[in-house]
Amino acid sequence: MTLRATPFEPVNPPSMDRSENRIDLHLHTDKSDGTATPSDLVKLCAGEGLTVIAITDHDTINGLEEGIQACQSYHLGFIPGIEISSKYEGGALHILGYGIDYQNTTLLGELKRFQDVRRKRNEKIIDKLQSLGIDISLSHITWESREVSSLGRPHIGSALVESGIVQTMDEAFDQYLGRHGKAFVSKEVLVSAETIDLIHRAGGLAFLAHPATLNLTGLSLDEYLKKLVAEQLDGIEVYSSAHSTKQITDYQELARKFKLLVSGGSDYHGHHKQNVRVGIANGGLGIEGKMVSKALLDTAVY
Ligand code: AMP
Ligand code: ZN
Ligand code: FE
Ligand code: FE
Repeated sequence: MTLRATPFEPVNPPSMDRSENRIDLHLHTDKSDGTATPSDLVKLCAGEGLTVIAITDHDTINGLEEGIQACQSYHLGFIPGIEISSKYEGGALHILGYGIDYQNTTLLGELKRFQDVRRKRNEKIIDKLQSLGIDISLSHITWESREVSSLGRPHIGSALVESGIVQTMDEAFDQYLGRHGKAFVSKEVLVSAETIDLIHRAGGLAFLAHPATLNLTGLSLDEYLKKLVAEQLDGIEVYSSAHSTKQITDYQELARKFKLLVSGGSDYHGHHKQNVRVGIANGGLGIEGKMVSKALLDTAVY
């Protein structure tokens, strides 16, 4: 008797070596500040030929269930993820959690607290904009983004572009929303050690996202990474649309030096980041399974 493939047989059975395959472990959906639904994002990734993906929305796990289900129907591996910003003065410190138990009650409690802070912060940003004579209301933004669980600056930036106050999202951040902008309000709740600990409590691996946004190089980057490693950081995102070729080489070297796991993802945000494509780091470099650590890929569910 010959065994016939059923219509439901996975395209990539779990026993197959996936290291040659293209992946993307840093993706945002419309549950935070991306613009694609989790299902549409998975469809896009499947169409691009990716085999493993991670959804890593800011401060929310609300896209993960839909993401898993869509990945199952497209036969993609799925890593449940999250991205949490942490207190940092010189730029942006974002920490990714991979392979998290997204029903963990400690995690859910903290995410609720982050959402409260976001709500209050959005109100403060709108107040600042209004005091600058810019007539933008929170009700407009929340209505436009009513399905969003984690509303942030890109939503406000979009409203500023749409109402013609600025021409581009970059201009919105440069002039108003960014650290040196006129309507900047910080929102970080946890320091790095607390964020890493929270991810570990939820059973996840903690990775430094796009190290370039720390705005550190050479010895100061070395020192800062040493501190994060002492706080039990598991890995760093080497491949990212935010990195130059030189930075990728530098971060590969640092991963080796500090024995950190390696990750890679585009940081796709849909229309909110026009130049970023799924599965692609800087300069058109496709991200492949063999570029990242096996221990990370092993957290994927199928
Ligand atoms: P929030 O989480 O509300 O603080 O918003 C941070 C998000 O803004 C991050 O995901 C960044 O990717 C995004 N962001 C920062 N600068 C820019 C920019 N110039 N253009 C588009 N998005 C940006
Ligand atoms: Zn974002
Ligand atoms: Fe980020
Ligand atoms: Fe991100």
